Amino acid sequence: MKMILGGEWVDRSSTIEVRDPYDDSLVDTVPRGSVDDVVAAVEIARRGYAINRAMPAHERISILKRCVTLMEERFDDLATTIARESSKTIREAQKETARAINTMTISAEEARRLDGETIPFDSAPGGEKRIGYYYRFPIGVIAAITPFNDPLNLVAHKLGPAIAGGNAVVCKPASVTPLSALKLGECLLDAGLPGEILSILTGPGAEIGDALVRSEGMRMVSFTGGVEAGRRITQVAGLKKISMELGSNSPVIVLSDCKFDDAVESCVSGSFWAAGQNCIGVQRIYIEESIYDRFRDAFVARTERYRLGSKLDPETDMGPMITEDEAQRVESWIAEAVNQGARVATGGKREGALLAPTVMEEMPRGAKLDCDEVFGPVVSLYPVSDLDEAIEAANGVDYGLYGAIFTQDLDQAFRAVREMEVGGIMVNDSTDYRIDLMPFGGVKSSGLGREGIRYALMEMTEPKTVCLNLGG
Ligand code: NAP
Repeated sequence: MKMILGGEWVDRSSTIEVRDPYDDSLVDTVPRGSVDDVVAAVEIARRGYAINRAMPAHERISILKRCVTLMEERFDDLATTIARESSKTIREAQKETARAINTMTISAEEARRLDGETIPFDSAPGGEKRIGYYYRFPIGVIAAITPFNDPLNLVAHKLGPAIAGGNAVVCKPASVTPLSALKLGECLLDAGLPGEILSILTGPGAEIGDALVRSEGMRMVSFTGGVEAGRRITQVAGLKKISMELGSNSPVIVLSDCKFDDAVESCVSGSFWAAGQNCIGVQRIYIEESIYDRFRDAFVARTERYRLGSKLDPETDMGPMITEDEAQRVESWIAEAVNQGARVATGGKREGALLAPTVMEEMPRGAKLDCDEVFGPVVSLYPVSDLDEAIEAANGVDYGLYGAIFTQDLDQAFRAVREMEVGGIMVNDSTDYRIDLMPFGGVKSSGLGREGIRYALMEMTEPKTVCLNLGG
């Protein structure tokens, strides 16, 4: 595919191969964009900003709605593209496509609700005879930098609100999964979006991502990805707004009064969805001692029924990791933890990029699998004596995206709600639960700001205050 520069499809002599991680087959190539392309895209986007800012909301809404219709018509192609270029199975890809359609639908709806408030100026001396209000205006040109693991919906989470809010956007999708983003861009352009409003540039993050972040023409960087790139971006961005959706190693607490089968099923699915490459994937499960052995046995048995294989086979439960290098990295983390005293209860075997779903026990505190983000199909089980111990362990890491608790006791549930240091908490679901309109984001190293269309729209627009002095 070509890339999108100010609404035009452009090629470059140098290209990047997009390969299917399951069998290394070539899916397509994309241009290897350059810093010159970034400069050109930002220049065009400044004009795009003026165009979108002046566009009436009803036109933006119509464009976003037409985009939704086109996505629905192209559903199979979008889902297959996700399944080919990324780690996801076709079932996972279909779910992501449906969610991306929902994300763009909500973006169209929220474009209508971009309102303000009147301000009681007379509430302070000196404000008499003044009336006024604020309304929200677009922030300008936004850099949208996205990761590989939800290659369509996480792009939709940036393009939808950016366009709904009246901005222009230059997107840089992950180099391993650029095709889904380009196909979303195609839907938007085919829906009538003025080209100047949208660029989707393909190329290395360290070059063109970095140039986008540094660009003085950029008013905001909306980044989703790993903490390492996130830190680098905060160091070089300069004076511009930054939103960061970063990683985590999500904890789940399972108390003895839980609905046992539901907890097992939900935690297994949450651990191995998208081969564990999921920012809200379950990585640590703290289980009350009295049910630990029973939970472990049921969890391992369910995990061993997982079917690995071709992503396009609807019977497949889990596909490969995104690259063989990544699968090797996770394999080495397992080996390191075993050397430190951990035990593999099941899994641990690798074939190319396919890593068997892996359950670990006796994980020492401080092992990488305990405190870093594994971003692979590995989960650790820990026995705990009570909720206090579970919360203390759950909070004992640098991340804080999501937490979860399984219990029938409201007091215990609300203690976890109050005390877990996370951006969101699920009661009687694993951490792997999200709908696209809820505020989404983390604390600590898991991020800054919130997405979830309405909340992203707030980040991507600013209040402008208007005051009329009627005392003259
Ligand atoms: P990544 O390596 O951080 O890459 C993310 C994006 O940043 C890619 O487009 C990458 O480009 C680009 N990039 C890399 N270095 C950059 C730099 N110096 N300046 C600007 N851009 C740069 O992350 P990933 O491996 O694709 O995704 C996995 C991570 O994303 C995990 O940590 C996961 O938890 C996190 N994530 C978070 C959320 C959330 O909502 N909180 C959701 C999904 C994923 P290249 O691909 O060209 O390197």
